[in-house]
Amino acid sequence: MADDSLRPSTIAVTTGRPPHDVDQPLNTPITMASTYVAGGEREYGRYGNPTWQAFEEVLGKLEGGRALSFSSGLAAVSVVLDLVGQGALVLAPDAAYQGSLSQIADLEMRGRLRSKLVDIADTDAVVAACDEDVALVWVESPTNPNLDVADIERICTAAHEAGAYVVVDNTFATPLLQRPLDLGADLVVHSATKYLAGHSDALLGALVTRDDQLFTVLKQRRDLLGAVPGTLEAWLAVRGMRTLHLRVERAQANAAELARRLGEHPAVQLVRYPGFGAIVSVELAAGALAADLLPRKTRLWVHATSLGGVESTLERRRRWKSEPTTVSDALVRLSVGVEDVEDLWEDLSRALDGLTD
Ligand SMILES: *Cc1c(COP(=O)(O)O)cnc(C)c1O
Repeated sequence: MADDSLRPSTIAVTTGRPPHDVDQPLNTPITMASTYVAGGEREYGRYGNPTWQAFEEVLGKLEGGRALSFSSGLAAVSVVLDLVGQGALVLAPDAAYQGSLSQIADLEMRGRLRSKLVDIADTDAVVAACDEDVALVWVESPTNPNLDVADIERICTAAHEAGAYVVVDNTFATPLLQRPLDLGADLVVHSATKYLAGHSDALLGALVTRDDQLFTVLKQRRDLLGAVPGTLEAWLAVRGMRTLHLRVERAQANAAELARRLGEHPAVQLVRYPGFGAIVSVELAAGALAADLLPRKTRLWVHATSLGGVESTLERRRRWKSEPTTVSDALVRLSVGVEDVEDLWEDLSRALDGLTD
């Protein structure tokens, strides 16, 4: 069967494996190597590794482009921002992952670039802001943690007319629910730490593009800056991606059901759920104090930052000083895992009941 005709679940299971030859292992081994015998493509451990390559092959095929792995999501973010010309303008969401926004703010403070923040869900406002001054449009969709959804296709059209590049942080949706390159994006960024690796045991990032010239430049930046992944982390991510479709399907079904039930709970003022994916944010009627208390009252749900693991976690986002104030003080972000939804609801609803008692 031609490889190009494979569907996402099959790609997740089969891509990035050794050939089906006698005595070959089924899985790409963990190759621990800081250097290689001279004369080939790799030469040195910072330039490439067969285990990274397995991860890059499976992610690249799922996103429909060529992938490069990095030591973390934020390392991948910094490589993209590093490409922006001196003093150029970056259009970015006014509420999104605080690490990406902090990098942009930090670069602006040091005079490296300028930024303009917009409500990424207000497509007309984003399109109006896409003038020829803009060099890069930073999109995150759905956003962390407000779960705003951007019209990626319209934003890409407007940005390209203005001569700007578009990068989409696809961490929340995963390539199974959204393929930004198909919608016109130039680049996809991932925190593979989250759903791709999926088990809260590895830090890893990635960039994906179908532009060969851009790929070459990004590879050069990775070689030069040295933000390369660990071999074990890449292997864990490949291992995780073998079940990505199963985890996303189950977590999403759980999330949709919990979002519905949360909407009917008196302690909850607002449910933020875009209708897909497995992150649900709630704003509590009793405010910030209740939002601080809720994660301490659950037993099954773990009070922890990060998201996208098999286990359900929650936290009040504004407990972080770096969180933008465009995020409600009373917002708790829930990362819904793959446990039994009834157990999750019993634990969560009991904790919510405890807030109003
Ligand atoms: C966590 C996260 C990042 C940063 O990734 P790390 O792997 O933690 O460096 C970037 N974008 C989004 C949307 C995230 O949730």
